[in-house]
Amino acid sequence: MDKIKMTTPLVEMDGDEMTRILWKMIKDELLLPFIDLNTEYYDLGLEERNRTNDQVTIDSANATKKYGVAVKCATITPNAARMTEYNLKEMWKSPNGTIRAMLDGTVFRAPIVVKGIEPNVKTWEKPITIARHAYGDVYKASEMKVPGPGKAELVFTADDGTIVRELIHEFKGPGVLQGQHNLDNSIESFAHSCFKYALDTKQDLWFATKDTISKKYDHTFKDIFQEIFDANYKAAFEEAGIEYFYTLIDDAVARVMKSKGGFIWACKNYDGDVMSDMISSAFGSLAMMTSVLVSPQGYYEYEAAHGTVQRHYYKYLKGEETSTNSVATIFAWTGALRKRGELDGNDALVTFADKLEAACLKTIESGKMTKDLALITTLENPTVLNSEDFIKAIREELEKTL
Ligand code: NAP
Ligand code: MG
Repeated sequence: MDKIKMTTPLVEMDGDEMTRILWKMIKDELLLPFIDLNTEYYDLGLEERNRTNDQVTIDSANATKKYGVAVKCATITPNAARMTEYNLKEMWKSPNGTIRAMLDGTVFRAPIVVKGIEPNVKTWEKPITIARHAYGDVYKASEMKVPGPGKAELVFTADDGTIVRELIHEFKGPGVLQGQHNLDNSIESFAHSCFKYALDTKQDLWFATKDTISKKYDHTFKDIFQEIFDANYKAAFEEAGIEYFYTLIDDAVARVMKSKGGFIWACKNYDGDVMSDMISSAFGSLAMMTSVLVSPQGYYEYEAAHGTVQRHYYKYLKGEETSTNSVATIFAWTGALRKRGELDGNDALVTFADKLEAACLKTIESGKMTKDLALITTLENPTVLNSEDFIKAIREELEKTL
């Protein structure tokens, strides 16, 4: 069989720990034997980010703007413990945060639904896709510890020198302060991405904030969504038979738990971070969650929703056997390869992506799975495979269809 050719490079962002190990296994077993893989490689592993003063992250985001499609491995976001572990020059920012800020896109996360892994919430029949706003709020906040009594104010100095002040609090003793911001432009991009994705996938769109408490900040999100919907999407939604629905975040949470699924839930940055972990765990496993960042310019970055699976990596380093689920990382690759194929008119690449995804599902449905899934499956007597053998089992299924 001739290997599938690629005309345009895919931006490849390598990462850290256990997912870096899986990354190589996936390439060696599932991609390189079948595709003349054409990637522009960026090593986002923590050591390389530290060596390049994080320039490699910026370069990889710029490459994504150049080529349009990227696939990313999970990466470490440094904390105090990582500073010592990796002897870091600085506590580098989250690469995901940096890339999201540069692409100003929206992250869509949807569970991979497979027979034998049933959601914990009995009413959920279809996947719930979380659309997470990828800019600002607490992720771009300035913070301060207040040492003692004093007055805290919000001060805005306009370019013409006009000053607007707003009292935050008269401190009688020590405390803490935080300044958050967002941009109309970014909220508009978020809204457009959500409405477009809802139309693409023919699903209702829900959006929720806390606008009753946050009468200016959150209310701006609500207003921008409504204005953009009324001006651009209302007719198309009616034609598609789908709905845009706004409610309060606490009401949304209550309704989600009673819903049947099958809709997109648009969330502000923090809500999306938290709720996507809740949705993915309730649907089965963090390892069964796909994630794609879509920019308003139409740049796509695919990744797994989970982290670097540190605990498994330490076992791997000790030479112990691991059973780490590679499905979300494989789906990051298939998502990126499919999108690359669609943009380049490369049908062979699109078909390959479909077949590889189907092979993953078939492997699990045949009872072969990693430990995380074996613990929750409704299938009887599942076969628990280690990290490598699971990927090899997928390859066997894949080869049957090629
Ligand atoms: P994590 O890597 O998502 O893993 C948390 C736990 O979830 C694991 O210990 C494991 O449970 C289970 N799990 C997650 N993915 C799995 C998989 N593919 N197969 C089997 N089990 C899986 O989160 P973390 O341990 O909190 O974070 C580790 C590092 O990842 C951190 O440095 C963090 O900064 C980074 N991170 C990166 C991203 C990203 O790049 N997108 C996202 C989140 C976190 P058991 O141990 O019980 O088996
Ligand atoms: Mg999170």
